Amino acid sequence: MLDFSLTEEQLQLQREVREFALREILPLAWYYDELDKIPISVLRKAFEAGIMNSDIPKAYGGKGYGLVEGAIAVEEIAAACPGLATSIFDNSLGMAPIMLSEKEDLKQRYLVEIAQEFKLMCFGTSEPTMGSDVAGIRCLATQDGDDYLLNGTKYWITNGGIADYMTVFATTDPKLQHKGICAFVVEMNWDGVSVGRAIPKMGQRCSNTAGVHFENTRVPKENVLAEPGEGFVLAMKTFDRTRPIIGSFGVGAARSAMEFALNYTKKRHAFGAPLANYQALQFKLAEMFMKVETARLLTWKAAADVDQGTATNLSASIAKLYATEAAFEVVDNALQLFAGYGYTKMYPLEKLFRDVRLLRIYEGTSEIQHLIMAGHLFGSYQPVMPSLDELPVLRWEDESGEFHESVEGKTAWRCPMCGYIHMGDETPDHCPYCFVPGKGFKQMFPREEETP
Ligand SMILES: Cc1cc2nc3c(=O)[nH]c(=O)nc-3n(C[C@H](O)[C@H](O)[C@H](O)COP(=O)(O)OP(=O)(O)OC[C@H]3O[C@@H](n4cnc5c(N)ncnc54)[C@H](O)[C@@H]3O)c2cc1C
Repeated sequence: MLDFSLTEEQLQLQREVREFALREILPLAWYYDELDKIPISVLRKAFEAGIMNSDIPKAYGGKGYGLVEGAIAVEEIAAACPGLATSIFDNSLGMAPIMLSEKEDLKQRYLVEIAQEFKLMCFGTSEPTMGSDVAGIRCLATQDGDDYLLNGTKYWITNGGIADYMTVFATTDPKLQHKGICAFVVEMNWDGVSVGRAIPKMGQRCSNTAGVHFENTRVPKENVLAEPGEGFVLAMKTFDRTRPIIGSFGVGAARSAMEFALNYTKKRHAFGAPLANYQALQFKLAEMFMKVETARLLTWKAAADVDQGTATNLSASIAKLYATEAAFEVVDNALQLFAGYGYTKMYPLEKLFRDVRLLRIYEGTSEIQHLIMAGHLFGSYQPVMPSLDELPVLRWEDESGEFHESVEGKTAWRCPMCGYIHMGDETPDHCPYCFVPGKGFKQMFPREEETP
């Protein structure tokens, strides 16, 4: 059964988060973007309003919302500021490996606390020398008795400069590649953890991004989240869960850009008429609208797959890739409709343009999403159609130009190059279209094994 409608509870959630976004985020996003600073008070308000951490299961004191609810909420916050959305929902990324693990004690310790108190948990796979290639992690985890010692640097860590906890992916030996990857929950006030300066960014400047360095940081065995060899799969499962949500960042940002452009074309005049009167521009807005709607459908589908336990990495990749690429195109087109004013800091398009650019990079670049889909297509994809060599021969034309619906009593040969079908007892000397020698023709009908 397919049902695209939202429940009354989901609609209520949408209304509440939308109202929060318009009241608490939209009015100050540009100010903090200019300051290049994260307003932590807004994160705290999002926590108090129950917008942050709503995916913590009820068993650990959370609301137990599914990913569809997550997508609904993220769209609203991202519509007001994609940068603040990144920081507000970063706990969901940081906590995902714990939720996906079997470590009940870690769930009890961290999820219960985060559901009750304003605490931030960031997530670290990326390093200064690698991002896409998670098997290439170099941050070293060395066993010391029952504990591990961490040495190395995690980079690009959202909320890295302000978080209380971090899920850290490391390796026991970089040469082991994915077989060496393990994961830990680290408390940021432990000895040997240092935080770098906030990284100055092009966009999403309301979000904190920093490097985190470990020097002989002792991680007790209770904080091992994934044993060596299990961490890679845990990281990939995390992304299956979080990538649809990056799609929702795109949906929110694109929706805002489209709405601003719609508004602007009604009030701006050129050549004696409002821009909105020009059909070329109406069509542009129609395209933008279609992309927003399509992106939303894909992200909700991917989120629903996660909630129903039927998710593969494919629906997450498709949602992330389509929605983030579409968002970039929509925001770019909206900026074009604003033209000169779009390029200024007085209107919101310039900030949205810088903010959405990141969506095509983090949590797996667009190229990595292409790799995932291509891997599926050339690996396990099961086609419905027969191969080109096996295409059935049902309809053919004889020399008099008459069509026949059957090849009964005839032998059909297919040119291996251009696909031409030759009817006759023997192959032709060569293909009349592409001149491939007739000996290369394949007998299509009757099948050789059927020939009496
Ligand atoms: C603001 C911000 C916040 C971030 N937050 C976090 C965070 O909280 N936690 C975290 O762990 N990371 C975070 N990241 C890191 C982010 O996930 C990485 O930047 C991203 O995965 C890409 O890695 P990279 O920058 O090292 O690029 P690289 O992996 O070096 O890739 C460089 C280019 O090569 C392409 N490429 C790489 N391999 C292939 C291939 N096999 N085929 C085709 N193309 C390829 C990539 O697509 C890219 O275009 C953040 C990044 C930014 C900028």
